[in-house]
Amino acid sequence: MADADYDVLILGAGSGGYACALRAAQLGLKVGLVEKDKLGGTCLHIGCVPTKALLHAAEVADSARESEQFGVRASFDGIDMAGVNSYKDGVVARLFKGLSGLVKSRGITVIEGEGRLTGPREVTVDGTAYTAKNVVLASGSYARSLPGLDIDGERVITSDQALRLDRVPASVIVLGGGVIGCEFASVWKSFGAEVTILEALPRLVAVEDEASSKALERAFRKRKINFRTGTPFQSVKVTDSGVAVTVEGGDVIEAELLLVAVGRGPSTDGLGYDEQSITMDRGFVIADERCRTNVEGVYAVGDIVPGLQLAHRGFAQGIFVAEELAGLEPQPIDESGIPRVTYSHPEIASVGLNESAAAEKFGADNIESVTYDLGGNGKSQILKTQGFVKLVREKDGPVVGIHLVGDRVGELIGEAQLIYNWEGYAEDVAPLIHAHPTQNEALGEAHLALAGKPLHAHS
Ligand code: FAD
Repeated sequence: MADADYDVLILGAGSGGYACALRAAQLGLKVGLVEKDKLGGTCLHIGCVPTKALLHAAEVADSARESEQFGVRASFDGIDMAGVNSYKDGVVARLFKGLSGLVKSRGITVIEGEGRLTGPREVTVDGTAYTAKNVVLASGSYARSLPGLDIDGERVITSDQALRLDRVPASVIVLGGGVIGCEFASVWKSFGAEVTILEALPRLVAVEDEASSKALERAFRKRKINFRTGTPFQSVKVTDSGVAVTVEGGDVIEAELLLVAVGRGPSTDGLGYDEQSITMDRGFVIADERCRTNVEGVYAVGDIVPGLQLAHRGFAQGIFVAEELAGLEPQPIDESGIPRVTYSHPEIASVGLNESAAAEKFGADNIESVTYDLGGNGKSQILKTQGFVKLVREKDGPVVGIHLVGDRVGELIGEAQLIYNWEGYAEDVAPLIHAHPTQNEALGEAHLALAGKPLHAHS
């Protein structure tokens, strides 16, 4: 296709799409980036960034409340939601400005409007057809609901509206105890709301190691965040004062707001993917390990592809496709090596297999695990946080799973994912020197323990 408008045309400028565009342009390809809303997508505008700003404000509120524990006289006088929102929006605006500048400086053509795949190598935006040697589908995801649940945006909301609330609700029911549900529950509790999480599965953040879920549940119980696991939702009624939610078994719970956080569906409806015979499964686009769909020249990245719906997975896939198209023959992404963080108070961070998945893969008798309690870690004591580092390994083999719980442990996941992705053995990691006092040391200590030479832990 010598006369195509672009080398690569990308449909959607979220984490997956814009990362692909930035890298492809860097590699000298002519890039068109189609976006109907704002560069940055879900993560920057209604996902990772604004939620983490709220979580930081929540941490500040908790610090004010708990300042006496540190001998500091301060008082918590409540939340000024306008102030919180202005801080949050300021962070987003600065990052958006930076990203827009970067896209421009790399010579990427941004095509504003709603795009549709109208040929294997053609995207039509508001009536104009653009051609490309290759097309990358990166249209992202939307907040799902459940049958019979009407999101009215007032009493029954998703994370989209939750991020724009101009008040702290007196009480909230959070439907779904996954990552997004637990993060909002954590924020609202710190802001002073009465919070109840309803989760159909037997535990909160059920994708994580059971020990991590249990630790989060203990911490939430201590914080007086109500939660009911193994409790499927049945129906909701909007009342004068809020919502009345009925759960299986007949119990009715009332609150001012219901946050629906039951997962995210792929934004692929009506975008022409079906018509171009792209293989789909329940709305998701099926792509192979090289991010190729079944149609030659059409790739897919990010939340529309089944797997972990995380921004850094989208970044990695976008970069991968750009390098593939530039002929660099990159290594496919190992999905199991993608780190995961739940940024609640306390945080959960992990990479690799949880203990039960490892037992299933290698056999229960062929794995070992060790748990290092943050009680033995100086910096965690200074921060007054509780939690652990848990390592799972194949007997006499490399570490296959690393699980952390505690405030700020998300910051430790970088080292953990290096260990996992480099198939590190406990014996090799144990001699690495970790600065003292840091929470990082806990990772070192856990590996010392797994290598049979615990320092600040019992043998
Ligand atoms: P998106 O970011 O959804 O981008 C898709 C883009 O395509 C959008 O900009 C959309 O406007 C555009 N688009 C769609 N259709 C069209 C069309 N027809 N024409 C033109 N443009 C179109 N992930 C993390 O890693 N860490 C976190 O802490 C985290 N927190 C989150 C918190 C919340 C509340 C939510 C909702 C998500 C969070 N995520 C987090 C997930 C993360 O936001 C997503 O995994 C990531 O944004 C997916 O990137 P994407 O490129 O696939 O899609």
